Amino acid sequence: MIPALLAIATPWSTLIIGGTIVDGTGSPAYKANLRIQGERIIEISPNLKPLPQETVISAQNLVVAPGFIDAHSHASGGIEEDPIAISQLTQGITTAVVGQDGYWEKPIQEFFRDLKATRPAINFAAFSGHGGIRSKVMGDDYKRAATPAEISQMTELIRNDINHGAIGLSTGLEYDPGYYSTTEEVIAVSQPLQPANALYISHMRDEGDFIIKAIEELLTIGKTNKVRAQVSHIKLGTAAVWNKSSSIVAFLRANRTQADIYPYTYWQSTIAALSPSRNWDDRKIWIKGLADVGGPANVRLTRFTPDPSWQGKTLDELSRTLKKDPITLIQEILNRTKDGQGSQSVVVTAMQESDLETFMKSPDIMFCSDGSIGGSHPRGAGSFPRILGRYVRDRKTLPLPEAIRKMTSLTAQAFQLRDRGQLKPNYIADITIFNLQTIKDNATPTNSTALSEGVIHVIVSGQITLKNGKPSGVRNGQIIRRNE
Ligand SMILES: [Zn+2]
Repeated sequence: MIPALLAIATPWSTLIIGGTIVDGTGSPAYKANLRIQGERIIEISPNLKPLPQETVISAQNLVVAPGFIDAHSHASGGIEEDPIAISQLTQGITTAVVGQDGYWEKPIQEFFRDLKATRPAINFAAFSGHGGIRSKVMGDDYKRAATPAEISQMTELIRNDINHGAIGLSTGLEYDPGYYSTTEEVIAVSQPLQPANALYISHMRDEGDFIIKAIEELLTIGKTNKVRAQVSHIKLGTAAVWNKSSSIVAFLRANRTQADIYPYTYWQSTIAALSPSRNWDDRKIWIKGLADVGGPANVRLTRFTPDPSWQGKTLDELSRTLKKDPITLIQEILNRTKDGQGSQSVVVTAMQESDLETFMKSPDIMFCSDGSIGGSHPRGAGSFPRILGRYVRDRKTLPLPEAIRKMTSLTAQAFQLRDRGQLKPNYIADITIFNLQTIKDNATPTNSTALSEGVIHVIVSGQITLKNGKPSGVRNGQIIRRNE
């Protein structure tokens, strides 16, 4: 009788054998086998043997880790066209946390319903977004402080999202329309966070000269409302603040404030982001903007629809071939793409690798990609393999178990993603299996979507979604609500 029962139970179980377990807690690696039944991990032990008819995955010479959680992702944008999310799966990402930088287009119940309808291969969790909500309430008339009535409308939309599973509230205070909000407005609309112990997360007003002031604003918003606050994609993006990472880490730690980071020394945005000023005709703002990032050789135009032959070249290279000074070029690029005539995008090397590595080592800073599907920054396809290949294996910036913790349990705990982020019996079986010897990012500023290599198998909620580096066709991604 007993063997018959086993035969019934086994087709639903999977055994991963021979791998090195890095469990996501930061504990040292160890050798063991891991059994999955349904969507959960049921046992982890060196002594597990395959059962009859059980699916067996060999992880010989491979690392078995919890699926990576991308703490700041823009992958919801391209998921409809690419539900397999191959650029995320090949990074080992099983959960993308979206709704970042204040992004919001509809109440979260509708957002989740539409996302679920795409049947994505990876899981999604989301923040409510202040910027989109501000646009919805204020329309085109947003270049001013919000009125008390507008603030209460925004607060209700945010409360609705929090009540329906948003991780917290994101703001994008460097972008329109968040740029025009006062600190008091952000404090007021963040009030629904505290009863849910939900998180305030922000692309702050400044990531360069005035970063300290921007962090102080974030702390004020958190402390006034008694909520946890997190800095999105922390960076020191201007020459005036280079090499200040140690004091900023100490400042954040003293205030028990977390951050996330992507592993590149260059950012990607529109060329307007070179200066916080909106006075584009003034040459002086661009002189300062270029000096802040180390000069025109550090600014690469990655998209310019009015003349694609300019794409892939730095301002320095364009300046020499076109015989125009870099500032005239910046103004021309802005002019030729204004009012929807075309689009442009730049990749700007504006950070020091030593600062990046200091941030990466801080125990409170989790990892993200800040990437999108098909985006023009290579972080969308390379971030997590780049951390493991370049920073863990090659440069030994931080040990493997600690890097994995910052991709998994640190994020799951901060974001209240229940039963995820660790390899542990009863946890959801989101699992990434990779080769530490070969893992590597291949995406570059001029080939930003090249897929990473070295992630061998990815399991999402118990099902094999990436098999031997190729999508299996399974699309089992879940919508993850806060604390559910
Ligand atoms: Zn951002």
